Amino acid sequence: MNTLTDNVAAEVVLPSAGITGLLINGEWRTPAKGKTLDVENPSRRTKLATIGASDADDVNAAVAAASAAFPKWRRLASRARGALLTELGNRVTANAEEIARVLAAESGNALRTQSRPEVLGAAEVLRYYGGVIAEQKGETLPLGPGIFSYSTREPLGVVGAIIPWNSPVVLAAVKIGMALGTGNTLVLKPAEDAPLAVIKIAELAADLFPAGVFNVVTGTGLEAGAPLSAHPSVAKVSFTGSLEVGKLVGHAVADRIARSTLELGGKSPCIVYPDAATPEHIDATVTGIINAMRFARQGQSCTAGSRLYVHKSVWEPVMAKVVAKVQEMKIGDALDEANDIGAIINAERYSEVRAFIDEAINKGATVLTGALPPKVEDAKGFFPAPVIFSGVDNSWRVTREEVFGPVLVAIPWTDEEEVLNWANDTVYGLAAYVFTNDLTTALRATERIDAGWLQVNRAGGQIPGMSYGGAKQSGIGAEYSIEGALEAYTSRKSVTINV
Ligand code: NAD
Repeated sequence: MNTLTDNVAAEVVLPSAGITGLLINGEWRTPAKGKTLDVENPSRRTKLATIGASDADDVNAAVAAASAAFPKWRRLASRARGALLTELGNRVTANAEEIARVLAAESGNALRTQSRPEVLGAAEVLRYYGGVIAEQKGETLPLGPGIFSYSTREPLGVVGAIIPWNSPVVLAAVKIGMALGTGNTLVLKPAEDAPLAVIKIAELAADLFPAGVFNVVTGTGLEAGAPLSAHPSVAKVSFTGSLEVGKLVGHAVADRIARSTLELGGKSPCIVYPDAATPEHIDATVTGIINAMRFARQGQSCTAGSRLYVHKSVWEPVMAKVVAKVQEMKIGDALDEANDIGAIINAERYSEVRAFIDEAINKGATVLTGALPPKVEDAKGFFPAPVIFSGVDNSWRVTREEVFGPVLVAIPWTDEEEVLNWANDTVYGLAAYVFTNDLTTALRATERIDAGWLQVNRAGGQIPGMSYGGAKQSGIGAEYSIEGALEAYTSRKSVTINV
């Protein structure tokens, strides 16, 4: 079903012919109604491939396959399930370059800075769960003489996982690792804009797990995602995506008292204290600010530190260096090794980002770097240069809403109490960044900021094993760690025996 365009065929090895995106009961199927959707390369604005577009009938078939596979899969020893995850991780490593090139082509995430590290990270995630999943332990409880009580961690059943396009490979790996490792079976729905790298991983997994244990349904949110979230036989939905859709998924799951993990958006603060801008520390702080903003991912990261608060006393040197360094970043085709920054995912997101920039400029924001990008019809690829605004405050839309683009607002502060209040003045609470070399200050700030993940003098990505999840409207539940996986993907069964 795949069709290649000539200009990318040479550089990108797409999923094999006949691979539709629907992996159901161990077979690649065409959608029941034969519908398809096109996947585009946002750097080149060309069609990359055509894949199957599932609807409720296909979701039903996948859930039925996963339900049928569950009883046997749950009884397999957890270390045997883990061994299969480790093998999948090894297969991903062995095919990493091919997967990374597909990912760069479809997502617009630059190959060198983003797509390659993401695929290698995904392999690490799979191997992490492969090893640690044997720790699926329960507890024993001393309830008194003659009573022996213990608990076990039971898988829930069929898990529906829905993922976004911005880091699809690592998110697929997290959901596969946690759901399958704990003994659940899985129906995974990739994002319609970037399903191909996930399909490549499914190709590597297809002969590994017993039929029906791991299923994939490609398609749109409305036609495939919504029926999966609402399916009565899906015991748990693990959703990563926007707040808006997260609310719909939360409702659908609540209606049948099933479980959900929601990993949603963010508008994360980044606070720079004066002692982080001494001559000795300023360069590391500036690098941290730029990494926190995820400029090299076009700002399309849920954890982007998109509200920068710099102490007024160090505003000049810090902002001068941030602007100079951002201007050195190379933007262009995600498949070109030379580029640091790739393309925004699609025309709709590009226009939304452009509208944020336009509105802030018209309202009188100062543009420290960047400019209004060309309109969609005039853009060769979706490449807005990073934009940094000053002269704005916490009330502006660009400061309050998730732009999900390379747009940073920078605001000077003088009073610590005030800046910590600004940091918390948001419905979101996903991540936060603090730059200071004083431990007491760092602890004071991290204690006060309401966020699921705080980084001090660091702005990297998640590391397998850490707990990761949002506070406030950034989500419910934490994934990535074994504790998170056990909480999110198993239920406790207590057994009390009168001996
Ligand atoms: P999105 O919510 O539009 O889509 C996410 C997924 O949900 C896609 O697979 C989509 O097809 C599906 N979907 C859409 N409508 C649906 C519906 N009605 N029912 C069920 N599924 C539906 O998000 P996006 O634009 O793909 O991704 C960007 C968003 O994801 C941002 O808000 C970002 O912050 C968030 N995100 C959060 C995390 C995190 O860990 N918290 C990680 C990555 C991205």
